[in-house]
Formats: sequence, structure tokens, C-alpha cells
Amino acid sequence: MSFDRNKLTLHIVVGMVAGLIVGGVLNLIGNEGWIAVVFTDGIFHVVGQAFLRSLQLLVVPLVFVSLVCGSAALDDVRKVGRIGLKTVGLYMITTAIAVSFALGAALVVQPGSGFDLPTDVEFRASEAPPLTAIIIDLFPSNPIQAMASGNMLQVIVFSILVGLALVLSGDPGKRVLGLFRDLNEVVMKIVTIVMMLAPYGVFALLARTFAREGFGAIAPLAKYFVLVLVVLLFHGFVTYPGLLALLARLNPVRFLRNVRTVHAFAFSTASSNATLPVSLETAERRMGIDNSVASFTIPLGATVNMDGTAIMQGVATVFIAGAYGIQLSVTDLGMVVVTATLASIGTAGVPGVGLIMLAMVLKQVGLPEAGIGLIVGVDRLLDMVRTAVNVTGDLVVSCIVAKSEGQLDEHTFNADSDDPGN
Ligand code: ASP
Repeated sequence: MSFDRNKLTLHIVVGMVAGLIVGGVLNLIGNEGWIAVVFTDGIFHVVGQAFLRSLQLLVVPLVFVSLVCGSAALDDVRKVGRIGLKTVGLYMITTAIAVSFALGAALVVQPGSGFDLPTDVEFRASEAPPLTAIIIDLFPSNPIQAMASGNMLQVIVFSILVGLALVLSGDPGKRVLGLFRDLNEVVMKIVTIVMMLAPYGVFALLARTFAREGFGAIAPLAKYFVLVLVVLLFHGFVTYPGLLALLARLNPVRFLRNVRTVHAFAFSTASSNATLPVSLETAERRMGIDNSVASFTIPLGATVNMDGTAIMQGVATVFIAGAYGIQLSVTDLGMVVVTATLASIGTAGVPGVGLIMLAMVLKQVGLPEAGIGLIVGVDRLLDMVRTAVNVTGDLVVSCIVAKSEGQLDEHTFNADSDDPGN
């Protein structure tokens, strides 16, 4: 089956634009009555969810099979540790940079000053789990349960264990590994098939989102909305390309070109998790990152690396402080950097969770959690953009780590030809 990515990208863009327009028009003429029943909550809902589920269904099998192959290729346990440390270190550093930028920009712009505080805001946040529970929870007591519940960190731990055991098991290990490598090809082929449905899927997802959301909620929050957007775009189009050029000596323009399809998926689904199959495919087949690195860094990134989310949380904290007329001290700001970095690690890669995790940051600096209620109206739109930043960050770090390990094929990275699906 041939697969022309240039054409596909073009079709996806057409689908996105059409979805935006159709959704916007439906919203303008009133998304009610038979229009809502037939289109928004009918056709668009069904097609969008079918597409989203087809992506989600791939996540666990893909991560498991791919990471078993990947960790089996790293025959040296020290190498696994080194790649792990580099990846986690870079994920945390880039997130801390992201929040710091966000805080700096928000302190200059002061998006919350002069904001009319409504009297009826309410938001009840759930408790964040303690650190000990988070660490214990990395280890699955039942791998099937971990897979069934989609607990990605547990699936990662189990897959690495299986991969290492295969290497250490001699001939039987080699035979089983052969099976996993074949399975990996098959699952990747399913990713390609689902990607071909993307133009219809993104159309339906965006048409429904925009029919329901509209832009009305933006006006009173314009300062906050635009500021988050600007910092997100800066991080995505300046910080990341800069880091790539500086640390990996890779052409940032090529990178941005290679990452386009991933952007489209992340924007339309607002979920790093659902985008994971496409991120992994792009990492290996467009960026030229070897499976031994990508199969580890990409799933880990989709689960713990959320720079876009941290940016929103940084700006939101200053906004909420301003709206309530509360001054943040320098210590508070330092606290926000640390907690937003941790909160973004704890944020699941699904729509809207970043906003819930914001409660953890607000609590840390003594701001009212009800403040979240102020910004909830524009969060879905920002979620789409921040998810695109989140997944871009995963790919940037993966490129840097792969390059430093000699595991990035620059020929593929710089290739003009866009036909990886054979
Ligand atoms: N939707 C984001 C993601 O999946 C998480 C969030 O910020 O809500 O990456």
C-alpha cells in the first residue's frame, strides 16, 4: 500500500480548515435543534469518536511491541540507563524553561489585572496523589491490568523488562524477538491505515469542537488567551528549533516540516496519548530516530512531558493571582516553576487534564482553586494548541537524545521524499 505523506498532509489541512469553517458557521447560526442532532451530536460525533478510538486502540499494542523491540536492541543495561537519564533530564529542563518563560511574560503583561471577578465561580479540584504513591505506581503488579487500564508508565516498565529478558535468554529469546519485530511491522501498518482516515477524522473532530465552543468565551479573557497562545507559539517555533540547532546541530526548518502531521493530529485530538502512534511513526520514519531510542522516548514523553501544559499553568497562576488581587512573592514564583513542572508530569495526555492539575499549583502558592473556573471557558481551544506543543517537545528531545547516541539517521531527517509507508 503506498502512502504519500505530502498529499496526506495536504488533505489533513483541508480537513482541518473545512472543520473550522463548518463548525464556526454552525456555531454562528446556533448549534441547536435538528442541526445539533444530525450534525454536531450525530455525524460529526460518530466519525470523530470512531477516528479517535482507532488511534487510542493502537497506543498500548504499539508501545508494548515497539518498546520490547527497542529495549532488546539496547543490549547493554547501562545504555538503557544513560538514555533514560538524558531523556528525563531534558524533559524536565525544557518544561522548567517553558514555565519560566510563561511566568516572565505573564508578570510583564499582567493578564489578570482589572479582570472583573464574577461572584459565582466554582471549581472543586480533586486531591493530587502523594509522591510515594506515584513512584510505587510505576511498577505494575499485573501487566494485563496495566495494559487494560492504559497505564502507560507501567506498560513502559513491563516492556523494557521483557525486552531485556529477551536479550538475556539466548536462542529462545531470539525466536520470540523475531515475532515481536514482525508484530511491530504489522502494528505500524495499522497506524498507516488509520492515518489515511485522518482528513475525515480531523474534519469531524474540529467541526464538532467549534460548533460547540465558538469564540464568544474569548472576549472577556482575551488578554489571558492571547498571552498563553503567544508563549506557546514562541516555545514551539523559537525555543525548540533553537535547542535542536544548538544541541543536536539539526536543521530546525526540516524539523518543523517533518513534524507537521503530528501537529495536525495533536491539534485536532487535544490528546498527546491519541497522537502517540503518529508521533512514533514520525519519529522513526520521518526524523530518522532509531526504534531503540524512539520507542522509549516518545511514549515516555507523551505521558510525562507537557511543556505546553506547563506554560498554560504558569500564565494561569499569574492571571488568577491578578484577578483576585493577590501578590506572588519571588519564592512563590520559584514554587510555581517546580510544581508546574511536576504537575505537567502528572498530567495525563488526554483533553483537559492540564486544567485539573492546575489545582496542585494554585494550592502550593495559596491561591483559590475556584480561580480555575475563571478560565475554563477558553480552555478547550488552548488545549488544542498546547497539546501540539507538548508532542513537539517529545520529538525535539527524542531527536537530541538520538543524535547524541549516534542513533539518528540524518539522511532520513533531511530527506525530501515523503514516502515512508512501504
Ligand atoms: N491535552 C493535553 C495533552 O494531551 C493535556 C492537557 O494539558 O490537558 O497533552
